[in-house]
Amino acid sequence: MSSLADLDRDVTACRACPRLVAWREEVARVKRAAFRDQTYWGRPVPGFGPPDAAIGIVGLAPAAHGANRTGRMFTGDKSGEVLYAAMHAVGLASQPTATHIGDGLELYGTRITAPVKCAPPANKPTTEERDNCRSWLVRELALLRPTLRSVVILGAFGWQALLPILHTAWVVPVPRPRFGHGVRYDLAARDDGPPLSVFGCYHVSQQNTFTGRLTPAMVEDVLTAAKTAAGLA
Ligand code: SF4
Repeated sequence: MSSLADLDRDVTACRACPRLVAWREEVARVKRAAFRDQTYWGRPVPGFGPPDAAIGIVGLAPAAHGANRTGRMFTGDKSGEVLYAAMHAVGLASQPTATHIGDGLELYGTRITAPVKCAPPANKPTTEERDNCRSWLVRELALLRPTLRSVVILGAFGWQALLPILHTAWVVPVPRPRFGHGVRYDLAARDDGPPLSVFGCYHVSQQNTFTGRLTPAMVEDVLTAAKTAAGLA
């Protein structure tokens, strides 16, 4: 099996979804006025964080003018401002801000990824696009598995995408557990490996944070629980 670094490199060349390839490149060409002097990434965005992470954070997909611009998950947008501030507050990130690759941000024991690695129009990938991207996440999780002990899933889309993948290595109950903020499920391994604790958290989108549905304290509480479950507390 190749390394996580190989996977991260290879995914950036993927062009399997025609609609998403067209959209990510169109956004990168037209740009938002505030970023008109910047060169957008405009490609699939690989996961971010150490290859021996004990915690996984799984979102939805890169934001058009966030990660699709900067090339790093949750970097350069409002969602990332909430997520990284919370991660820093609980000791999972070296700083509370994420503006660009090379800004000094380091993650501690945590890897952030997404089930769809290209920015989709209106933040809504199709089922077919989600399924196209599945193999990237399957390989990423297989490479993380030796150290992975807990996963925080941001939002119902990530929940629906990830649980079937987890089911290949851990036992996911039937009927499948329902997504909710603060829910926790401990999954036994299918082999004699360690279990995995899965946590639900509302997505850190502006739709949730601007309305107060999700507060910084709520994110920090879930991250702290995941950190404890992973043995990093
Ligand atoms: S969404 Fe995934 S499968 Fe589709 S083009 Fe992007 S990286 Fe490839």
